[in-house]
Amino acid sequence: MEALWDRIEELAMDKSGTSTLVPVEDVGLFRALAAEVARFCEAKGDAPALVFADAQTAGQVPQLAAVVRNAAFAACAGAPPETWKKARNTVQVAFPQLLLDHRLLIVFSPSHSFAIAGVHINTATQDIFRGGWTCERKLVETMLREFAEGFQLSRDTLPTPAPAPDAADTSLLLATRLMSSMVAHFSARQQDIAMDRHDLFSVLEILKAISSRRRAHDVLFVFVEQIARVIETNRCSIVQVWGGERKGRVQASHEDETVSDLVIDLEKYPEILHAMETRQKVVINDVARHHLTRQYARQLSEAGIRVLMVIPIVLFDPNVGSLFLRVTRRRRSFALREIGFCEIVAEAAGNALERAQLFERIQRANERLERLAVTDALTGLHNRRHFHQRLQEEYLRSKRYALPLACVMFDIDDFKKINDTYGHLQGDSVLREIAAQTNALIRKTDICARYGGEEFVVVMPQTGIVGARSQAHRLLEVLRTHTYPGLPPKARVTVSIGVAVLDLDTMDNCDALVAQADVALYEAKRLGKNQVVVAQTSGDKT
Ligand code: GH3
Ligand code: MG
Ligand code: MG
Repeated sequence: MEALWDRIEELAMDKSGTSTLVPVEDVGLFRALAAEVARFCEAKGDAPALVFADAQTAGQVPQLAAVVRNAAFAACAGAPPETWKKARNTVQVAFPQLLLDHRLLIVFSPSHSFAIAGVHINTATQDIFRGGWTCERKLVETMLREFAEGFQLSRDTLPTPAPAPDAADTSLLLATRLMSSMVAHFSARQQDIAMDRHDLFSVLEILKAISSRRRAHDVLFVFVEQIARVIETNRCSIVQVWGGERKGRVQASHEDETVSDLVIDLEKYPEILHAMETRQKVVINDVARHHLTRQYARQLSEAGIRVLMVIPIVLFDPNVGSLFLRVTRRRRSFALREIGFCEIVAEAAGNALERAQLFERIQRANERLERLAVTDALTGLHNRRHFHQRLQEEYLRSKRYALPLACVMFDIDDFKKINDTYGHLQGDSVLREIAAQTNALIRKTDICARYGGEEFVVVMPQTGIVGARSQAHRLLEVLRTHTYPGLPPKARVTVSIGVAVLDLDTMDNCDALVAQADVALYEAKRLGKNQVVVAQTSGDKT
């Protein structure tokens, strides 16, 4: 398969068997060098350079056309490209056996002191490029003869070489030019690679920063902030649009972390409307000329914007509207690299955003569940289970620091009658009113819960018997005099209250405190209801 190239390498070997070819392995570089040779030959006026090529490769180095047109001798396997056709010296040859499965370009300089050759081996299984150039005059001559034969050209057809005296200088000059073109090519490539690496690192860094954020707004802010850091921009923001609306909301802006939900009129942002309609990115390199932004050119220029782009952020969740990344700057057009970069990051941000939104939803649902788990549905007070947990905590604290702790328990008097007289729903309403009144009366640090059907309990940390008793009396009074919506104005709702305070000598767990309050409550009922009873053991302690 590689026979043709092997042969070229063989021909380029000097007596000692050392290759004189300077290898060119990159097809792009080879074309650039071939173009350089063509320019060189063209500059040499009517000196006959020699070109052997297949039609396809010939077309890929447009500079060769000028060489061929001026004075060159050119042999083309297959129909030569249009640009070659007018040339006097073009010879079309039948596709030589030599070139089956290959594409070839070989250029000999006018004085036969230089040859550059490139071979493309292109089959179903292989796609290899080999290339190189040599300045060894003798070897160039041999190579030329061989190619003339391969292309079935008689020697007489070949033009005589240009006078040789300056041959060494010429080839040196050409070689130098090729070298510098090679260096330029490689440094450009290296810059590209460095750029790619830099972009890749930036993308990775952004992804890292974005994925560590849990809140959707943080994801968006980090996203715009990082884009602004990597590419020069004077504004970088995320605009959210709900289907069909002519208003947008700026959800994040790189200049100000607090920006969120800032309403804008989309009529003034035709580029966003266009991106929304087409679902495609919009890149405008001069707002004064572009048909979308022309009419806003003055405002945009006042805002220091001449170049802008809008990139849709694709989200799977239809419930968040559409999101657009908008990047603007003062002058330089966006390079393809920068646009591609924003697109990649926008896609990643879309994913991170959806994850964050899901997380926020789960968190909200969890919070709600947690609230439900500790709350009594009818009154909104703590439920009995949660009350026990909190009571235990307060009990342990009081025990450790020797702090007083009081428990006030009350039960509505003759509640059955209220239900029977005014209905169960009205009964529920009374329960809610009682809960609200109690909550309003107690301290923030007190813990109030619905203990049973129409039974309530309040635990009062750092409260001794005096404080608890007076709170109980106040509660008795407030609930008794309160006007309950839905009940006749004269109707009275009373409660019986039992009070107990923690006595560490006789109570070795928190339930004992509640049990004492319960006993006192029972006593209050027994004594005729609508009163406060302080548990016996608590009576003489303050
Ligand atoms: P006492 O003065 O001895 O406490 O008499 P009472 O009628 O209040 O006590 P009893 O224990 O006989 O009746 C309590 C009533 O509370 C019975 C029950 O139907 C009612 N009840 C319990 N939970 C609820 C509730 O959530 N809503 C309503 N409307 N009534 C309730
Ligand atoms: Mg009752
Ligand atoms: Mg009861």
